[in-house]
Amino acid sequence: MRKTFECGHKGKGKRCNRCILERNQEEKNRVFREQRNNIYKTIGLNVGDIPENIAMKAYDIWNSLLNFKNADDFRKIKGWRKLTASTLKGFFVFDFGKKWRLVASYNHGLCKPVGFFSHQAYNLWLSKNVKG
Ligand SMILES: [Zn+2]
Repeated sequence: MRKTFECGHKGKGKRCNRCILERNQEEKNRVFREQRNNIYKTIGLNVGDIPENIAMKAYDIWNSLLNFKNADDFRKIKGWRKLTASTLKGFFVFDFGKKWRLVASYNHGLCKPVGFFSHQAYNLWLSKNVKG
């Protein structure tokens, strides 16, 4: 039987399902914001700069590349390409469309993220590092 809960919602059962779902969603959002702030901190960009979907994808990829054990692991995630300049041996870049770039390096079994860049910042980084 449907009844009205204290919160004002109508439904069945002992507790209001709608409020439970909303609380779960709030918790998810909170965790998401926390993660997002962590990744922003890690990658060193302002929160407002990166669209949320890009940030989430960057976060996932960033975390998974920390588990890469050899250079071939970059092939596991579609989108990585090897940088070919002789001064950038062991560097890989992941393109998020035209605007964002995630750079990682691989050296003797150690894989680490180098940075998450806007397209412009990436080009600047690239021009500095290609020259060596
Ligand atoms: Zn409710």
